[in-house]
Amino acid sequence: MNLPRSLGELRSSQFSEERVSQRRVKDELRENLVAKLEQNTTIFPGIVGYDDTVVPQIVNAILSRHNFILLGLRGQAKSRILRALATLLDPELPYIAGCEIHDNPYAPICRRCREEVARLGDNTPIAYLIPEHRYVEKLATPDVTIADLIGDIDPIKAARGGHELSSELTVHYGLLPRANRGIFAINELPDLAGKIQVGLFNIMQEGDVQIKGYPIRLPLDVALVFSANPEDYTARGKIITPLKDRIGSEIRTHYPATVDEGIAITTQEAWMQRNGHRLEVPKYVREVIERIAFAAREDKKIDKRSGISQRLPISCMENVISNAERRAIKSGEEMVVPRVSDIYAALPAITGKLELEYEGEMKGADAVGRELIRTAVAKTFDQYFSGVNMQQVVQWFDLGGEIKLAESVSSKEVFNSLKNIQGLADKLEALGITNKVAVEAQVSAAEFVLEGLYAHKRIGRSEERVFTAGEKQPARRPEKSFDRDDPFPGGRGGGRRTYN
Ligand SMILES: [Zn+2]
Repeated sequence: MNLPRSLGELRSSQFSEERVSQRRVKDELRENLVAKLEQNTTIFPGIVGYDDTVVPQIVNAILSRHNFILLGLRGQAKSRILRALATLLDPELPYIAGCEIHDNPYAPICRRCREEVARLGDNTPIAYLIPEHRYVEKLATPDVTIADLIGDIDPIKAARGGHELSSELTVHYGLLPRANRGIFAINELPDLAGKIQVGLFNIMQEGDVQIKGYPIRLPLDVALVFSANPEDYTARGKIITPLKDRIGSEIRTHYPATVDEGIAITTQEAWMQRNGHRLEVPKYVREVIERIAFAAREDKKIDKRSGISQRLPISCMENVISNAERRAIKSGEEMVVPRVSDIYAALPAITGKLELEYEGEMKGADAVGRELIRTAVAKTFDQYFSGVNMQQVVQWFDLGGEIKLAESVSSKEVFNSLKNIQGLADKLEALGITNKVAVEAQVSAAEFVLEGLYAHKRIGRSEERVFTAGEKQPARRPEKSFDRDDPFPGGRGGGRRTYN
């Protein structure tokens, strides 16, 4: 690309003074967004499940030229969205070469550049920024200082150099000035000390700030975006009111609304395309993994305020595949087909993402994790087998049948013993599994059915993964009008209806 390299060349190019001198970052974001809207292209590729909720609100905020904040729990793609804003920036942005704060060639704010333009005129060298270099991100912590964020001043150096203290020449720029003419994102805004929030507000409002008591003029051009946990943000006193006032839009993010949306995100984010073995993750395994997060978000033993990150199903999926991969490598199988037992083996990828309440702490993270998997298996099982008669399979166990399905054992080894369970193979059709598909897939499906029956307590399973008969139900007493399997006594199956 032949981009102009001097101020003189710049004037007669597409980057004319008329076009560039007054164009601020928020104008640029807005213009490029409008172009995308006109072309009807995806605004944020790779952001799943926000098309009707979060994305339109972000679009409105940018069209309004607002600074905005994303409020949401952990793992709701907040950082990802903020980073995606860089895709709305121009491919190249001219600035005065060598300037630490990327001064506008037609309107420099730092003294160095003003002096350079005065000295060199149209020969002032020009450089360019690409969008990635115009996005600066900072995680707020209580120990972030004005020096980190805005800059520092060296009074001794200033005195020796004969500069006035308010001269920008003596400022060591912090992150925010270095993001000049770009996007500056602060994550977890409420963790920023009040004093720093005041500094931030002053920059946004007046373009000046005090450093060590000296007023410094810095009319920066920055699009400021933030993220925060909603409870922290709305807590009284966490955010100074004038700063809150200057944040134009508050946008709430959320977890995937459906299991399918969750699966789409996990499939996109998890590392699944591995070299070597052919991998086939059954749909029910994907669903179980996703439902673990859904179950955890509803579980009273888990802290609601910190949320259950979408990273839980993502890490879980990676670990599940690895466990299946390990089995395939050790037993010389060609195909990697994860099973429900691989999900239980992936507990280390689950427990770390749960913030437990007192009751959960008492039970222990592993027990809570296993319970979540069992709940997820039960719900997924119902999806495929609700109303399907499993009596034949259950009976096989009731008559003393036992089968060990260790997660480390090869599919071929267990395949024949699974065949002994009468009626089991027919049930697999509901999962799209016939005797024509790979043995690995058949074993995984059969195990899912047994795990489903175990999750519903219709059969038993030991620590050593031996499936057996379930605990005997107390004998039904004839005088009892209903049992817990029948929530509508006399109300179902027409013929048995009673009228009292
Ligand atoms: Zn400059």
